[in-house]
Amino acid sequence: MIEDKNPQRTPLSELGEFKLIEHLTEHFEVKQQSTIKSVGDDAAVLNPKGQIVVTTDMLVEGVHFDLSYVPLKHLGYKAIMVNLSDVCAMNAIPTQVTVSIAVSNRFPLEALEELYAGILHASKIYNVDVVGGDTTSSTSGLIISVTAIGEVNEDNVVMRNGAKPNDLLVVSGDLGGAYMGLQVLEREKEVFKVNPNTQPDLSMYSYIIERQLKPEARKDIVELLAKLEVKPTSMIDISDGLSSEIMHLCKQSNVGCDLYENKIPLDPQVISTCEEFNIDSTTIALNGGEDYELLMTISQEDYPKIKGNPNLTVIGYITEPEKGAHLVTRAETKIPIIAKGWKSFNSETE
Ligand code: ADP
Ligand code: MG
Repeated sequence: MIEDKNPQRTPLSELGEFKLIEHLTEHFEVKQQSTIKSVGDDAAVLNPKGQIVVTTDMLVEGVHFDLSYVPLKHLGYKAIMVNLSDVCAMNAIPTQVTVSIAVSNRFPLEALEELYAGILHASKIYNVDVVGGDTTSSTSGLIISVTAIGEVNEDNVVMRNGAKPNDLLVVSGDLGGAYMGLQVLEREKEVFKVNPNTQPDLSMYSYIIERQLKPEARKDIVELLAKLEVKPTSMIDISDGLSSEIMHLCKQSNVGCDLYENKIPLDPQVISTCEEFNIDSTTIALNGGEDYELLMTISQEDYPKIKGNPNLTVIGYITEPEKGAHLVTRAETKIPIIAKGWKSFNSETE
């Protein structure tokens, strides 16, 4: 499905490790004041302001991505985003990353150039410095491990455990797009296997495919919250799906919640694609994952500050722990939320 735009194939062995690292990192610039020493020494040197947050995520070929429909440039971008998203979920601003790769000799230099073009693009847009990493060989496939660092004023750190009864449950953006984008890509992959000459028209799925291939970390939401002078009482990024993230917040804060089905923000493309695939859009929003939106709780007194903001949707509120976590359906019945979905859909979603 993805055409090889760059037919040149330079074996990695032609460069050797040092030349390869030099080549891949030559365009990285230092932008952050807190970066004292970047790539090129035994370790990077940082001089952060406030507190720092540190997070790592690893992406493994065949487990987290499939190179038959994920362009390497997008993969590089996404590997950075999934980490920046975790930094943002602490209400911190991402500042540096390190990138480690294990790569088999099946990949030519040009493939790694593509991967690093995506990493470079992400680091420019999000104003983070790539300050180091490691490069090694693997016997099969590609593994990318990114560590991200962020800075946050001590008073502004937001954890998962601060939600209180009556707080509002708020989500950024819309949900379910990344999962439906994946469904479309997987369907096209099967079509392509049968007939490699088809050129599918995917324009009607452009938003959801972009949500899958090129997710964005919501650094803009962290900045927006600071501007609105709203400090959430708890926050988490939505990597696995709304239901499991809600369960994390409720468990760690020792609270319950009522989530309103009719408040869950869905893009029209998600709704139409769910209809086409004959899947329930609420199930997708609850279980889909990989949207990298932020789920937070805010105190009622902050409601006027976020009211009407198109980036933030109130989807429910926090209750006493004895009440448990529930979905209030459109038919106004209350169904317990479980980590994946809700109980009545148990058999479908497992
Ligand atoms: P060492 O032998 O001390 O581990 P390396 O030769 O692995 O050093 O790396 C040299 C420099 O290049 C270090 O600053 C390291 O952080 C950086 N580096 C190595 N691999 C990568 C990579 N894939 N991406 C970014 N920086 C890298
Ligand atoms: Mg090393």
